[in-house]
Amino acid sequence: MSGFTIERVDGDAGTAYLVGTGPVNWVVLQEGSDLTLIDGGYPGQADAVVESIRAIGARPEDIRGALLTHAHVDHLGGLAKLQKRYGFDVFMDPVEVAHARREYLQQADVRDIAPIAYRPRVLRWLATVTPLGVLSRTGLPDAQPFPEPLDLPGRPKPVAAHGHTDGHSAYLVADEQVLVSGDALVSGHPISAIAGPQCIADAFQHDVDEARRTVGDFTRLDATVLYPGHGPVHRGSVADAARRALDI
Ligand SMILES: [Zn+2]
Repeated sequence: MSGFTIERVDGDAGTAYLVGTGPVNWVVLQEGSDLTLIDGGYPGQADAVVESIRAIGARPEDIRGALLTHAHVDHLGGLAKLQKRYGFDVFMDPVEVAHARREYLQQADVRDIAPIAYRPRVLRWLATVTPLGVLSRTGLPDAQPFPEPLDLPGRPKPVAAHGHTDGHSAYLVADEQVLVSGDALVSGHPISAIAGPQCIADAFQHDVDEARRTVGDFTRLDATVLYPGHGPVHRGSVADAARRALDI
């Protein structure tokens, strides 16, 4: 998979980049030459992550640590490969650690997708993500909970955003201007006909009610840019984006 778009927001603690690909996004925080990676695409996108880091003039060897929004294969798969290659630590919400280690799996499977699998968008999505490794059961055996304090380049701040998975986390970055929302709030998805801020399809949510409560929490944030796990950057009040998603 090559071909990505890059968005940037500058803050006192460096620059936050959103790297967008059709199937999924990831985020790179750059402070001086040091990097924090948030999520890492599908297993088949590890090289695209490296390419995106080089595209911003940085080096993958300078990743000082990584954060995971949640342990689904489209966010964890590439990260697991890169961790083996470069040896950085991967931190996440304490509740998500066992999931990332694959002690259990809260991911949509054939039974969840079957009722909607006749839809052309879903068929096209499956054709795209199957070669990227959507069926991979790879985990992160040495996934770690956030250390206290969490001291990573770009000074990301975790925001508990449970529901999509039990331990899903969002992150405030670039001096809290930007919410990296993972799959708690997205702005599009290959299987969605809607453009703009929205909750991801119920088939992909582990706990739909909890996921909506989390989006309700986002209505109290002051962030002005949304870096979602899927869909394009959304510039504008994140609180308004969250309200819009709840209204759909
Ligand atoms: Zn996802």
